[in-house]
Amino acid sequence: MARYTGSVCRLCRRENVKLMLKGDRCYSDKCAIERRPYPPGQHGQTRKKFTDYGIQLREKQKVKRIYGMLERQFRRTYHDAARRKGVTGENLLLALERRVDNVVYRLGFASTHAEARQMVRHGHFRVNGRKVSIPSYQLKAGDELVLKDRSKKNQHIADNLAAVDRRGKVAWLELNKDEFKGKLLQLPSREDVTMPIQEQLIVELYSK
Ligand code: SF4
Repeated sequence: MARYTGSVCRLCRRENVKLMLKGDRCYSDKCAIERRPYPPGQHGQTRKKFTDYGIQLREKQKVKRIYGMLERQFRRTYHDAARRKGVTGENLLLALERRVDNVVYRLGFASTHAEARQMVRHGHFRVNGRKVSIPSYQLKAGDELVLKDRSKKNQHIADNLAAVDRRGKVAWLELNKDEFKGKLLQLPSREDVTMPIQEQLIVELYSK
């Protein structure tokens, strides 16, 4: 599977927002965007005026990077969202939130989306008793996600769970740290997506 292997802090600086791609480091004063709050590269500090297309493109790139997706998969998720009833931009965001790798991250088992994706791929979780190893798997209200017995001894996961409180509570999820399990209490709503995202710009971009 293709994946981005460059510097992730560079992506935050490009989008001018903390995408939280490096776990602990994002909460420290070593965060690159705090030290150098301008785009990367030789011309990063020169003033740049974006066209409408440029603004839409940056918004799409930002959302892709938040959820750790590449173009083809993201575009497919968008087209699925566009086919469903309701507001396309909202459908897109809610489909992204319901991905099992995102839920693993939001519950705090992983410190970044990339880590969550790898954990799911490596089969660390069961959903309603069945092994799920596809990161894009969509969870439904009431679904229960449990860490595999063998993985409960993993110190890194335990450390991640111990640090989860600094991220704030996610209203649509319930975490039981002692039993290493989480539950989707209800489907997320637009208000539950707290990152600064203007999804209508992505719809405008893909509708051209
Ligand atoms: Fe982004 Fe985290 Fe790097 Fe800061 S430390 S620039 S939030 S990835």
